[in-house]
Amino acid sequence: MPLITIDDVKKRFGSNEVLKGIRLSVEKGEVIAIIGKSGSGKSTLLRCINGLETIDEGAINVAGAYLGQGEAELRRLRLKVGMIFQQFNLFPHLSVGRNVMISPMVVKGTSEAAARKLAVQNLERVGLSEKFDSFPEQLSGGQQQRVAIARALSMEPNALLCDEITSALDPELVNEVLNVVRKLADEGMTLLMVTHEMRFAREVCDRVVFMHQGKVHEIGPPEELFVNPRTPELRQFIGMTN
Ligand code: ADP
Ligand code: MG
Repeated sequence: MPLITIDDVKKRFGSNEVLKGIRLSVEKGEVIAIIGKSGSGKSTLLRCINGLETIDEGAINVAGAYLGQGEAELRRLRLKVGMIFQQFNLFPHLSVGRNVMISPMVVKGTSEAAARKLAVQNLERVGLSEKFDSFPEQLSGGQQQRVAIARALSMEPNALLCDEITSALDPELVNEVLNVVRKLADEGMTLLMVTHEMRFAREVCDRVVFMHQGKVHEIGPPEELFVNPRTPELRQFIGMTN
């Protein structure tokens, strides 16, 4: 069974239909890049998978939790998926370690000692164990984004959703964040990432989803989509980003 099933999902904002019947299944351990022009519905799709938006039609299932079946089920769904955004949104008044500890303690009732252990492990995973007692403002943007990744990991999600997580970074800081993502992919984490980093998508992702006007316009392995785009829309998009 797939880890994530998105079944004919439609989403409207007023009269604007932003997702027009999305179907997508994601296997455990799969790494998927979502590409497409601004406004094509990429962020809305991720936000729906994380239960940050309601859906108007269709169904979303993540590891046995369903969207659209009440509050308790929504809380279950949110525990299954972590999300990382372009803006890191760390708490400025909390140390790095506390930033990573707080969600499991508040949301799951994890004990302080267990949360600390998780934070140490996950800061280690993103290469920042020595920053446990630092504060966000003492870190570079790339380091802050890696803390945000550790924070998401500390909830022990089944999948991670990344929405343009390197877009706000200075170019020289992009790779340290992508390297962390690459490592998580190698460890078997299920990842859905909206990204403009086409080379990274080509090297690391199992499949690429090209969204166009609220639909999955093309989907397939990167070598297929990038080398032999079938539609003029994808050809044009690839031409734009080269
Ligand atoms: P992308 O991430 O591909 O750039 P988005 O999912 O952010 O696209 O947006 C898709 C469309 O949905 C856009 O037309 C955008 O204006 C609209 N949209 C997104 N969020 C909202 C919202 N909260 N309210 C109204 N319209 C929205
Ligand atoms: Mg977006």
